[in-house]
Amino acid sequence: MTQPVVRQIVLASRPKGSPTVDSFRLEEAQMPSMPPGGLLLRVLYLSLDPYMRGRMDDRKSYAKPVGIGEVMSGESVCEVVASDRLGYAAGDIVLAPTGWRTHAASAGTALRKLDPALAPITTGLGVLGMPGFTAYAGLNLIGKPEQGETVVVAAASGPVGSLVGQLAKIAGARAVGIAGGREKCSYVVDALRFDAAIDHRAPGFAEKLAAACPQGIDVYFENVGGPIWQVVLPLLNRFARVPVCGLIAQYSVVSQAGPNPLSATMREVLSKRLTLRGFINHDFASEHYADFLRDVSAGIADGRIRYREDITDGLENAPAAFIGMLEGRNFGKALGRVARY
Ligand code: NDP
Repeated sequence: MTQPVVRQIVLASRPKGSPTVDSFRLEEAQMPSMPPGGLLLRVLYLSLDPYMRGRMDDRKSYAKPVGIGEVMSGESVCEVVASDRLGYAAGDIVLAPTGWRTHAASAGTALRKLDPALAPITTGLGVLGMPGFTAYAGLNLIGKPEQGETVVVAAASGPVGSLVGQLAKIAGARAVGIAGGREKCSYVVDALRFDAAIDHRAPGFAEKLAAACPQGIDVYFENVGGPIWQVVLPLLNRFARVPVCGLIAQYSVVSQAGPNPLSATMREVLSKRLTLRGFINHDFASEHYADFLRDVSAGIADGRIRYREDITDGLENAPAAFIGMLEGRNFGKALGRVARY
């Protein structure tokens, strides 16, 4: 009889610049057995997130890199196959840090149970999960938008940016999104109800962004960095707040040519008394996660908050979907479907 196997995606090599599908390898391994006091999990959906690009580099950061030959790390929605842990039973749906694989053993820690009756289970990786909380915490605790102020966010159709703009609107601010391409910009205005959306890939981006922010920018939620930051910087108002959430335009840049843009940034920080604060979502989780779940769940239930997901089928297709997300080819929260639920 053949032994059951786990399929998993490992890091094959460290990319120099942008990752390619050859940076990853699909492997088979022995099916884990259930640890005493733990659980055996079947992965249903993988989260594909920009931060995973950082894990592929051997660089000092806020989290440990993935080793060569190790399974790509990440969070998943899973079904409990078997449980030796009080409070969990076969058939339960949980969020778990399994990495990119079809099955995983869990010691029973770092799990969150999801109730499929309350919301689609995929939302636990997006609008009601880590990206959603990132938007909620960064905007409310650092950006602090006030009635009538202008809030700008890039990657505006993605899980973080889309919620930032919608929460800004709920707070009474004017929301302006930056997104790549006409289709994403239409979605940001028509479905997400931002006041404006500007295509950063189209000609005249800087002029159009300035025209969309006639009163300047009071909160810039930084998701992207690179050239977009240079366009936003002169539009910031005195005492503007900049939650520095992500720099996706810079994650695969090996070396920077041209003049050092830091001196321009520092000049504006001083003369306009800007507040720039970097943050990682879990900095705020213990104090604010329950409020986030309550507020955003209510916003989804009453239709004030909308979200979109971009699901790619098959574990073997996760690397290509991940690379596509880094390059802007996702339209909504990027997820990999590993098994049918
Ligand atoms: P998205 O699903 O929005 O995907 C990334 C998007 O970034 C792409 O779709 C693309 O959108 C945009 N993008 C990629 N390259 C560029 C570029 N060179 N210039 C402009 N835009 C670019 O991702 P998330 O919502 O999951 O994440 C958004 C940001 O938030 C990322 O920087 C991420 O690292 C950060 N983050 C930070 C966390 C924290 O705790 N600090 C936690 C979670 C996310 P488009 O086609 O519109 O250009």
